[in-house]
Amino acid sequence: YTGKTGSELLTEKIKQYKVQEFQHIPIVVKEEVSVYDAISTMFLEDVGTLFVVDDNSCLTGVLSRKDLLRASIGQQDLNAVPVHIIMTRMPNITVCRKEDLIIDVAQKLINKQIDGIPVVKDKNEGLEVVGRVTKTTITKVFVELITDDQI
Ligand code: ADP
Repeated sequence: YTGKTGSELLTEKIKQYKVQEFQHIPIVVKEEVSVYDAISTMFLEDVGTLFVVDDNSCLTGVLSRKDLLRASIGQQDLNAVPVHIIMTRMPNITVCRKEDLIIDVAQKLINKQIDGIPVVKDKNEGLEVVGRVTKTTITKVFVELITDDQI
């Protein structure tokens, strides 16, 4: 018997959950892709957030559903507008790394009021996108806390 309370054990368990074991595959598009094609990609890949990368596969921006909706209600030709015109761009992107704690990433999602965060790896040219953590990821972690038997 460890003498630890239930909440201490729960805290310990949560602090073992790192980004690496829960992250999903990132869906990325190039900066020159049109808004129209980004919308198609979002439907085909069934994600709510796309990450935008340059020719070195480094992160330059983020596209949310509302970013694409906003661009769609104007009069412009969606095939003619590249996503780099409408995306949220670096350095204003909230990122995380594979060794970060899931609980810290969840806190960032809440504080910044966003749905997803790219998992990045530092490269000479910038930040390579290697994964994504979303609100869905956090929901899965929450469920795993109860269904996972080992501490
Ligand atoms: P939605 O706009 O569809 O509700 P979000 O809440 O995720 O989706 O996005 C809100 C705004 O924040 C959007 O303009 C989006 O580009 C931006 N955003 C989304 N994810 C990030 C991020 N990781 N870092 C910085 N900005 C982001």
